[in-house]
Amino acid sequence: MSEHGHHHHDHPHETALKSELTPGRKRILDVLEGAGHPLGAYEMIDLLAARTGKRPAPISIYRALDFLVEAGLVHRLASRNAFLACGHSHKASEAVAFLICDTCGGVAETSSAPVRDSLDAVATTAGFSPRSRVIEVTGTCAACKAA
Ligand SMILES: [Zn+2]
Ligand SMILES: [Zn+2]
Repeated sequence: MSEHGHHHHDHPHETALKSELTPGRKRILDVLEGAGHPLGAYEMIDLLAARTGKRPAPISIYRALDFLVEAGLVHRLASRNAFLACGHSHKASEAVAFLICDTCGGVAETSSAPVRDSLDAVATTAGFSPRSRVIEVTGTCAACKAA
């Protein structure tokens, strides 16, 4: 994968929560972090089966993913029905924009205070209380555009 993706930087923030994960949840997070790009649940099952020799049940994968998403360690990309490890240490409520490349499949996670403020203004006007603020932008990444 090219270096513009989600994992071009290290993970300086090991949250306390991450070290408290059960072995099953930790394995799923490891697989996602190792992949460096979004994975569907069934791709994850294949990778876990290859690693442990046992095929986990989809329901247990989805339960673990729900937990990891709630904990802010993993993001769900609704447009891809896929999951990716969060490379940043941020609050679950923070505004996050994913720049998803149609060509290479790379995903860059960015956050932007102006985006958050705009979304909050829209929500406030509607009397709406946001729980999460996730934007998925599809297109062509800089590396693919240059290629
Ligand atoms: Zn994130
Ligand atoms: Zn690309």
